[in-house]
Amino acid sequence: MDVSHILDELNENQREAVTASSKYVLVLAGAGSGKTRVLVHRIAWLVDVEQVASYGIMAVTFTNKAAAEMRSRIEALLGRPAGGMWVSTFHSLAHRMLRRYYEEAKLDKNFQIIDSDDQLRLVKRIMKSLELDPKQWPPRQAVWFINEQKDAGLRSQHIDDSNNYQTQILNKVYAEYEVICQRSAVVDFAELLLRSLELIRDNPSIQDHYQQRFKYILVDEFQDTNELQYAWLRLLTGKQTTLFAVGDDDQSIYGWRGAKIENIQDFSRDFPNSQLVKLQQNYRSTGNILKAANALIEQNQSRLGKELWTKDDDGELIKLFTAFNEVDEADFVISHIQKWVKNKGKYSDATILYRSNAQSRVFESNCIEQNIPYRVYGGLRFYERAEIKDALCYIRLTANPNDDSSLERVINHPPRGLGQKTVSVIREYARDNEISMWHACQQFIKGKVLNNRATGLLAHFIALIEAMAISREDRLQDHFANAIKRSGLKAHYTKKEGRDKGQGRSENLDELVNAASEFNYQPESEHRNFNELTAFLSTTALDAGNTNKTNDCVQMMSIHSAKGLEFPLVFITGLEQGLFPHQNSIAEGNLEEERRLCYVAITRACQQLCISYAEQRQLFGQTKPTIPSIFLNEIPSELIDDMRGHRQRWNVTPPGMKQKSRVDTNATVFAIGQLVTHNKFGEGVVINTEGSGKSARINVNFYQSGYKWLIIHYANLRAL
Ligand code: ATP
Ligand code: MG
Repeated sequence: MDVSHILDELNENQREAVTASSKYVLVLAGAGSGKTRVLVHRIAWLVDVEQVASYGIMAVTFTNKAAAEMRSRIEALLGRPAGGMWVSTFHSLAHRMLRRYYEEAKLDKNFQIIDSDDQLRLVKRIMKSLELDPKQWPPRQAVWFINEQKDAGLRSQHIDDSNNYQTQILNKVYAEYEVICQRSAVVDFAELLLRSLELIRDNPSIQDHYQQRFKYILVDEFQDTNELQYAWLRLLTGKQTTLFAVGDDDQSIYGWRGAKIENIQDFSRDFPNSQLVKLQQNYRSTGNILKAANALIEQNQSRLGKELWTKDDDGELIKLFTAFNEVDEADFVISHIQKWVKNKGKYSDATILYRSNAQSRVFESNCIEQNIPYRVYGGLRFYERAEIKDALCYIRLTANPNDDSSLERVINHPPRGLGQKTVSVIREYARDNEISMWHACQQFIKGKVLNNRATGLLAHFIALIEAMAISREDRLQDHFANAIKRSGLKAHYTKKEGRDKGQGRSENLDELVNAASEFNYQPESEHRNFNELTAFLSTTALDAGNTNKTNDCVQMMSIHSAKGLEFPLVFITGLEQGLFPHQNSIAEGNLEEERRLCYVAITRACQQLCISYAEQRQLFGQTKPTIPSIFLNEIPSELIDDMRGHRQRWNVTPPGMKQKSRVDTNATVFAIGQLVTHNKFGEGVVINTEGSGKSARINVNFYQSGYKWLIIHYANLRAL
């Protein structure tokens, strides 16, 4: 058989991995060294050479975009559709299992997925009903707590809270949250994974089914698996399973969500006699881009250690742009893209990366002004817009009336006279009787519990949802159009927000109907429990739809969502202390994960990399002077084309500065990069420290008064 299409364009180490006969293989290698390529070629090798049925292969990765990319690369290599192969994200795969075995997973047939925004609303409501003061108990903290426990595989009953009052309270919220989600038949993202793990773990026949089916499991971005995902993989890996994982410890960027680099080290312990393959040649980036990435990541101490090289030319220098503010930064980026396009490039070659989704706004308005096509990944997605969520809540209720979150959102929206008070009475009654709010409403109407007016209004609402549900059997788009029409949302928004804004919302609602008509429903046999409506709702919740649409447009995304991807022209924007590295990481003295994130960002670029920061930036409604990111100092100056010649102005880091030096005085430890405040000089960032004990000194760059050396013992600095 001719295997040249699979092996020809691979180097020796890559071939070794693709054709490996070991049961367990770990490919550990730096960015752009061909890990994903090896994984894709390995699948082609299995199917074409080892004659493995597509049905027996599962490939898993982290983002929908990466999964879509992987599938299309596989299909291009095979020259045909990937058939029954499962190529998807952890969440989507877990979701498929839960749909298939919803009864064993103790889920309602029509269970729905809630996103993080729904989750926060639900937690807020629960905390209110438990009479917890949101000032003392911020709901976001409770959401974090819940997700963190789930990511560690823990249910509320597993948590030992006997010695800690705070844990007791948070766990009480968690326990109540579990009850309400179960009753409402909704699952959040973390629940998808935990529930499917429990499903396989507690049902040997199901575990057996999947182990028999998936004899070949392949994992991309293995370094970002958390405990739960790793346990899930171990459960699926049976005696006859071949496990193939690729990853890079330098690109581990989800530690804050529980990802464990240790999983890489545990691999060889958990899977004995595993084969380790290392790849060191980078095929993606020019020499200069690679040198910058190598120099930066070298500053991290906890690394397994590896250096990448390329045969490619040095290429252009890295362009550094110092902007006056965020508007100037966006002007630079967009005009640079226009030049690129004039020079025969495409819009889609360019990607704007940022640390925080909020940064996209300025780039977006610039694109709109200049009529430049663009697409934002992540951030406020179409399906997160208020009017779309409203409409989807109505539609979700037609599929699952027990969904309390949806019911609460629309029971009085548009306003129909069912005030807060009535809704709380219904909520309390549902809670006390352990039923859904929908059932509580029905009982209230039947028993005429409320006054005549409220009973009438409630009956009207229930009848409205039931009338919407009748069109469920119609084509999806007709069902949506009917529900939207009956909901009165369009008229409501036009009345409330005036014609222009209302018009925009109304168009979005029409777009939702279009999305329903374009939805490509494929009722495969293993999807026998999906109806079209549920399939649509799940796809939107998981953001798994439309990832393949690649019009020629500029792309914008957070660095986290750019993982695994590559683009000819990359902009890394907002390189400022507090923004990137992010304030929280600075405060925790944990710069290494941020540096890995910066490494990921740099290594996305193939041909040209532009980095920028603004000397002042408006954030959260306030304009403040900024301090250039510490990472800018870590890129050697000979690699940089300083477009405005400003680097000298701030590059005053004392020679011999040690990035990770820390000084202990009697009471305080300050880390480099940390934000501090001083009574007289105000706020600033720690640049360097030296000495120890009472004579220890600290160099701080204060926003208002510039660089100062202070004796820590007397300076009375406070960490921010
Ligand atoms: P990341 O760590 O960012 O996920 P990766 O290690 O998965 O990167 P790939 O995306 O697989 O790297 O490969 C990077 C680029 O190099 C791709 O465009 C790929 O097609 C190309 N490439 C990899 N190996 C070779 C090779 N042997 N010959 C030519 N091109 C290659
Ligand atoms: Mg990859």
